[in-house]
Amino acid sequence: LIMKKVMIQDMPKHIGETVKIGAWLANKRSSGKIAFLQLRDGSGFVQGVVVKEEVGEEVFATAKGLTQETSMYITGEVKADERSSFGCELVVTGIEVLHAATDFPITPKEHGPEFLMDNRHLWLRSRKQHAVMKIRNEIIRATYEFFNQNGFTKMDPPILTGSAPEGTSELFHTKYFDEDAYLSQSGQLYMEAAAMALGKVFSFGPTFRAEKSKTRRHLIEFWMIEPEMAFVEFEENLEVQEQYVAHIVQSVLANCKLDLERLGRDTSTLENIKAPFPRISYDDAIKLLHEQGFDDIEWGDDFGAPHETAIANSFDKPVFITCYPVGIKPFYMQPHPERDDVVLCADLIAPEGYGEIIGGSERIHDYELLKARLEEHNLSLDAYAWYLELRKQGSVPHSGFGLGLERTVAWISGTEHIRETIPFPRLLNRLYP
Ligand code: ATP
Ligand code: MG
Ligand code: MG
Ligand code: MG
Repeated sequence: LIMKKVMIQDMPKHIGETVKIGAWLANKRSSGKIAFLQLRDGSGFVQGVVVKEEVGEEVFATAKGLTQETSMYITGEVKADERSSFGCELVVTGIEVLHAATDFPITPKEHGPEFLMDNRHLWLRSRKQHAVMKIRNEIIRATYEFFNQNGFTKMDPPILTGSAPEGTSELFHTKYFDEDAYLSQSGQLYMEAAAMALGKVFSFGPTFRAEKSKTRRHLIEFWMIEPEMAFVEFEENLEVQEQYVAHIVQSVLANCKLDLERLGRDTSTLENIKAPFPRISYDDAIKLLHEQGFDDIEWGDDFGAPHETAIANSFDKPVFITCYPVGIKPFYMQPHPERDDVVLCADLIAPEGYGEIIGGSERIHDYELLKARLEEHNLSLDAYAWYLELRKQGSVPHSGFGLGLERTVAWISGTEHIRETIPFPRLLNRLYP
């Protein structure tokens, strides 16, 4: 008999067969006659049932002695099981222990967040973290699918850069041989050059910001998806964003049912996430906040988390806040055609208090205007010479946006704190593990 090794996720396709799996023990319950093993292999979780009368004294004793996270090869028959959402269980016939784990620190009881963060390298093995990582993976998969299906080319901007697009306070500084260099805060400027070459482009890569404040929405290192499109103007940019976000939400709903269930995510709020999304101007958003009694914000201020949440709660889908004051946005945004106090930008705010997931805009394509803006912002014309030159070589209207992967994972998976949405979060005062 040649026994094939099967992944747990594929077990429902092997009902009635005898299979071998490589697994870790996640949890165990046992009595004198029967042991229930919660097994995991990374692809999924399944219950193994060990019946003393069937397997004999020796195998049963092995099963009863298994400690949490012990690794093993385990054989048995796959049996349909309607009570489990997974649809089957393993009726164990043999156990070959590979390594007996000792004192696994994360037990089924409650642990505080700092303890769990210290043990992130082990915490990742939990059911909940498994589900979040699977949803993260599905969002990445659906992202490639969406952009590839819509004529975009993936282009990778550099991570080590000599100049910085937005401000300098949140920049990580490093040395580049004898020169100063910075870790990328956004690949946008490079993506604009890429769009002039390939038309529609997107990037997906790490982004670094020395965020000095502790919030549940900010990481120091996070991953951003940054599409950039030539010949695409303000409103068309919003249409791409709403279709893209709807696509990832619907993909997760279709392909991560078990994961959402495991997280206890209320999916009723996700089902209607389909294009189009509502839009509210910055002006009207300020009025709405004043009507709701917020007196801590005035026209010209940027929104804080409570403001974004209050605005989001007035809608049942993600909402675009459009046309922010020029003073609180970066130098490269195209001015509104009828007003010089606001720019053609939009932030997309997720429902349920998860905050801004996208920042986007139409970019300035006029050479003189861009040059004037660089000067107003005291940015070096030398450092930005190549960027400015794009406006001398067949300049076209173009737009793009940046979506923060981890914010999006937090929202779709219903995860309170962003630290659980990336395998190894970098946070203020936390560089380990
Ligand atoms: P915020 O206002 O929440 O600080 P931002 O306006 O500074 O965000 P952008 O520069 O517009 O962020 O970046 C684009 C997207 O990247 C944001 O909409 C968000 O989804 C994500 N993002 C920004 N900063 C962080 C961070 N520190 N950690 C995780 N995601 C982030
Ligand atoms: Mg910020
Ligand atoms: Mg913002
Ligand atoms: Mg923003």
